[in-house]
Amino acid sequence: MTNEDQEADEVAQPPSARGSCLCGAVTYDVHGPLRQIIYCHCSMCRRTSGHFVAASACARENLKIHSHKALRWYQSSPAARRGFCQVCGSNLFWDAIGATTISLMAGSLNVPTGLSARAHIFTADAGDYYDILDGLQQHLGWPEDSDALHAPIHADTYPPGGRSL
Ligand SMILES: [Zn+2]
Ligand SMILES: [Zn+2]
Repeated sequence: MTNEDQEADEVAQPPSARGSCLCGAVTYDVHGPLRQIIYCHCSMCRRTSGHFVAASACARENLKIHSHKALRWYQSSPAARRGFCQVCGSNLFWDAIGATTISLMAGSLNVPTGLSARAHIFTADAGDYYDILDGLQQHLGWPEDSDALHAPIHADTYPPGGRSL
């Protein structure tokens, strides 16, 4: 993440993705690959999102956030904080302490994203008012077949060996 003083650097190389909150007070650019979408049904994601979270991710150094005055962070657990717009309330980021990547709420990305959903995680904590019927992989918690199970990040390494982050 860098500040607005460095925006001029972006002119030479257009970002691979852009995103914003609902009101536009917070915008961001990504320079580099995005991870495919993971759905998280954990209780914290459900409460902050109002349903469940769809998240991409990118390398931390590839994310440039603008309008920092509107961006607020909430420490949702000892391991992570969540970034949101204090004007409109949009959920934007999931930031794990010490991780090399940062999660981006998929709905905040401008379309077309070129991404697709890959898996559901923390389905053990899913709400009782919906079914998961899309045929994607489901994991009760962290992906059992992935190093992400023990990684200090929010499934940012899933799927292991995948092309995207
Ligand atoms: Zn906003
Ligand atoms: Zn979650």
